[in-house]
Amino acid sequence: MRILVVEDEKKVASFIKKGLEEEYYAVDLAYEGEEGLYLAENNSYDIIVLDVMLPKKTGLEVVKELRDGGVATPVLMLTAKDSVSDRVNGLDSGCDDYLTKPFAFDELLARIRALLRRGTKEKSVQLKVADLVMDLPTHKVTRAGRDIELTSKEYSLLEYFVRNKGRILTRTNIAEHVWDYNFDSFTNVIDVYINYLRNKVDKDFKKKLIHTVRGVGYTLKD
Ligand code: CA
Repeated sequence: MRILVVEDEKKVASFIKKGLEEEYYAVDLAYEGEEGLYLAENNSYDIIVLDVMLPKKTGLEVVKELRDGGVATPVLMLTAKDSVSDRVNGLDSGCDDYLTKPFAFDELLARIRALLRRGTKEKSVQLKVADLVMDLPTHKVTRAGRDIELTSKEYSLLEYFVRNKGRILTRTNIAEHVWDYNFDSFTNVIDVYINYLRNKVDKDFKKKLIHTVRGVGYTLKD
């Protein structure tokens, strides 16, 4: 899953990016509102973490413009501790949730997981397809009860497939949700990672979950 973080305090921004990457998210950073708005309008993020007090455009202006432009990506707003009016205005402008600074990183992660659940029928912290189970807080993956060890990139690729089970995913879809802004589209890295994943998730099992859709991309189905 790919996250945009818009935060002008560079230390806080890089702390959040590093922490989210350790949790297997692909993360892009913007340090002011206009850049944040541009990135949010031109990329497919799964979540936007948006500070309210930003140079050039405030977080509230950014979320208003995004919603006016039809961008429905869930937004988690970061606000100052005592600013009730920011929180009220933020929620009224189209933010989905907020977190007051300073916050515990675990709470940020839990709120991100909650926002990712909102658009789906899946209300549990586990994702399941057939006998495959992904436990989101611990990143533990099992198939038919057997542990499957995945690297962070393999995990986030599998998570994207499982969240979109039954859908045909193009390489562009996959790049946009699993890799960050620095992804080089002139490589075959996606196919390479899908092979890694197949070796771990499908190879030793009779029933295959990941399927190639010739000329289009890939799909994961039960
Ligand atoms: Ca700020």
